[in-house]
Amino acid sequence: MKNLKLLKAMAFVLTALLMLSACSKPAPSSSAPASQAAGTAASGGSTTAAKNFLCSDKPITLSAHIHWSNVYVLNDNWTITKEAAKLTNISLKGTASPAETDSKQAFNLMIASKNIPDMVGGNRDSINKFGMEGAFVPLNDLIEKNAPDIKKYLDANPDVKAAITAADGKIYQIPFVYRALISEAWFIREDWLKKLNLKAPTTVDEMYNVLKAFVTQDPNGNGQKDEVGLFTRLSSPQDNKVLSVLSLFGVSDYWHTNKNGKVEIGLYTPEYKQAIKNVAKWYSEGLIDKEIFTRGSKSRDILFPENNGGVIHDWIPSTCSYNPKISEKVPGFKLIGILPPKDINGDVWEVAARDKLSGAGWAMSVNNKYQVESIKYMNFWWKDEGIRLSTYGIEGDTYTMVDGKPKYTDKVLKASNPINDYMRKLGGQIDDMGYPHDASYERFMTDEEGIKTLDLYEKSGVVNKMNVKLPALSFTEKELNLITSKYPTCRTYMLEQLQKWTFDGSKVDAEFNNYMSTLKSMGIEEIIATYQAAYDRMNKK
Ligand code: CA
Repeated sequence: MKNLKLLKAMAFVLTALLMLSACSKPAPSSSAPASQAAGTAASGGSTTAAKNFLCSDKPITLSAHIHWSNVYVLNDNWTITKEAAKLTNISLKGTASPAETDSKQAFNLMIASKNIPDMVGGNRDSINKFGMEGAFVPLNDLIEKNAPDIKKYLDANPDVKAAITAADGKIYQIPFVYRALISEAWFIREDWLKKLNLKAPTTVDEMYNVLKAFVTQDPNGNGQKDEVGLFTRLSSPQDNKVLSVLSLFGVSDYWHTNKNGKVEIGLYTPEYKQAIKNVAKWYSEGLIDKEIFTRGSKSRDILFPENNGGVIHDWIPSTCSYNPKISEKVPGFKLIGILPPKDINGDVWEVAARDKLSGAGWAMSVNNKYQVESIKYMNFWWKDEGIRLSTYGIEGDTYTMVDGKPKYTDKVLKASNPINDYMRKLGGQIDDMGYPHDASYERFMTDEEGIKTLDLYEKSGVVNKMNVKLPALSFTEKELNLITSKYPTCRTYMLEQLQKWTFDGSKVDAEFNNYMSTLKSMGIEEIIATYQAAYDRMNKK
């Protein structure tokens, strides 16, 4: 506790010092000695192919703070960064202590130490804050002149460019980006459908009928009325347990734009009134898990082995992994992925999607003497070869090429830990190193049904509609203060009321107007206006 206080005080002093220095001299941009463009003739033992990736004529070592996800800390055993060094002539030397088990704490300690290494991994808000105070190099010019692959992505994704741009108009962090946005899907028990002679539902009404049959016609065949229709495991945003059910009634509970292009949030819209009444109706008829608000993160592990769960909306690879696991215990057990049923308005859309940005990424400190080389190195990880290296590791060791595509070797596929953890321990798939995510590896983490479902959602185009979920927005400090001071109270009230009405829909008509005006008095309109302003700013950039 004492240490934390001291640390906070040190961080404050440092912040003040950085602000002073930021005022007295402009942060250097591309003043470091420029090396020749990658791909030009360079001496050394590299192969011809490798020369294309050289970021420096002579080998250089950059100090780097990479301490990500509380577990993954840059060290000399990372074979993937060592392989990159062979190709680029740039080595990384880790400065963060693996003894520290809290990445945020490690970042704060590094900042407070005043000894900021050449490269720094960290979340965007922190990087931008200290960047604007003079600790990190503005990267705009460096990207423009020396990072063609990063530039190409940002030009093609103006929403991401706007989101990563700090309030002073500069970019300080090269972000980790998701290129495939599919995350969750609807899954239904095919064996139960067959048993009851039903088809997979394609509309909200058909879903109602299927769920009704599931909970009344004993598809698990034990003579008891113990089936659970629709259940959930995940709950987002901020713990809305019936998020997926609401989507069937036309409501997105993410920040999104409505038909008029205006920003809104699902639980503060006129449409929500009818939607929550429908949720309550389904709940009262037993179509939704009675314990949906309390079941928790183990719901699949409870309801599938007991042969009780019928329909779930959840992540694709992990949900499909129950097929081989459970079919030993429950003969015939089979989950299949289906497209989102047509909602009450006749629209087909998927409520869940990844954001393009995870928030993680890395920056360059003003102490870095090799800024041009460093930005070229950051750019290397955005080339196909860099992405393959970060995702699949070393050819012949962790993967081989099969029909032109990388395939993990058995040492990865048969390892006791999941693929991503295995690769991270070798220095791959590290979000704090600001490169594109390659979702192709997820296909190695699922079964045939999972791959089919991924393809189904990918081809149908049901994911990532702007009127479902806004991209990450960039807020000013003032805007952020308003949101963090007012929104949590609004959100708590929304979710309390959501649960209350799910249990008793008869109260909605009488209470809805008062609910809306209570939220208004809590400041929801100001929060919406703040999101609108940030959204409009993004569109202007
Ligand atoms: Ca039964």
